[in-house]
Amino acid sequence: MVFGPLPQYLPTFFLNGHQVGYTDCFCYVGITFQSTARNIFRSHYIAKAAKARKAGFAVFGVEAYVGVLPPKEGRMLYMSCVDPHLVSGADVVIDVDKSALDHLEKVQHAFLRRLLGLGPYSLRAPLFTELGLVPIRYRRLILALRYLGYLVGLTAGHYARAALEDSYQLFLNAGQGYWTDLVYALQQLEFPVVLPPLQSLTPAICSELGKAVYTSAMRSLDGQIDNSTRLYLLHARREPFEDEPPKKVTAVLRHYLELVVNASHRKAITRLLLSQHPLAVERMRYKQRYHRVLVPRDERLCRFGCRSVETVEHALFFCRGKVELIEWREWLADAVPDQGNAIRNVGPWNATSVLRSLIFSRVSVCQVAKVAHKVLGIFAEEPMVWPDGA
Ligand SMILES: [Zn+2]
Repeated sequence: MVFGPLPQYLPTFFLNGHQVGYTDCFCYVGITFQSTARNIFRSHYIAKAAKARKAGFAVFGVEAYVGVLPPKEGRMLYMSCVDPHLVSGADVVIDVDKSALDHLEKVQHAFLRRLLGLGPYSLRAPLFTELGLVPIRYRRLILALRYLGYLVGLTAGHYARAALEDSYQLFLNAGQGYWTDLVYALQQLEFPVVLPPLQSLTPAICSELGKAVYTSAMRSLDGQIDNSTRLYLLHARREPFEDEPPKKVTAVLRHYLELVVNASHRKAITRLLLSQHPLAVERMRYKQRYHRVLVPRDERLCRFGCRSVETVEHALFFCRGKVELIEWREWLADAVPDQGNAIRNVGPWNATSVLRSLIFSRVSVCQVAKVAHKVLGIFAEEPMVWPDGA
């Protein structure tokens, strides 16, 4: 391989009497180098993304034998089969090229969306907050800092330690290298983390820096959830744990993903919570092939002619367009005696709060998931009513 400009006359190399050819791409100790791309690790990202994608397909291949993969087991298989490819080389290949990192992020997003039963345009932050995972960009940085802790702990004569010091000198002289990339990657986070000078670093400080990157990831996810009006049901929620009082947790495997065993019911409540449902308030948000005009929210009316906006609350608590909807509402009130009165007396002023209390309770989540599946199914069978001119 030749890095940089090619000389006018290329020398010929021999090994044991055999001519050694030139190449622009080579895999050395697991890392693929490419001499003809601006980013010498670009091929590495592409190769690892392809392997991770194949591993993901293989994981979902088990659905042909065991049915829909539950999120807990799917998450476990993701960490053991897909994640190792996505974090390959993270300790030495720092993510400074966004277009290269995109290859890995796309694979991660596609896997988690499929696991949750969401479409390709669903919001990204809930993929991590609902499954208790870290975006791959942050995860790779945390691993890089763990490796930096190992390098910092080496004795002065060690080659890897000497290379680290060399890279630090390059950084001080405004050159490029490992340390410069690490500083840049940490600065580019939405909530940046500052890398101290090499002389003051210890393995313990590197461990703290890793925790700071994790906190930065959680702050970023919190911000994305709180700033999204589509995710209003997730705002200020408190996770109902089995053996401790409810509390705010940014990312954890959520109770409804474990408790709702029926896959159809689980996907229905997930789509309802994450605004991926078939109701008009969500579907008319976008231009479609035959409907090119944006529809204002107050014109996204119920398809059964109720003259109310077709929201989740309307579908579950107020719509009287189909007798089955009223029957399922009654079933829910009977199935959750604690909240039966609240469901029967619900009004527009407290509908969201009643819905939240039904979902964020370990007692009623299975029942409300079942009703969500039935109700969304009834709405999906009837075509939406688009306003004139839309
Ligand atoms: Zn209605």
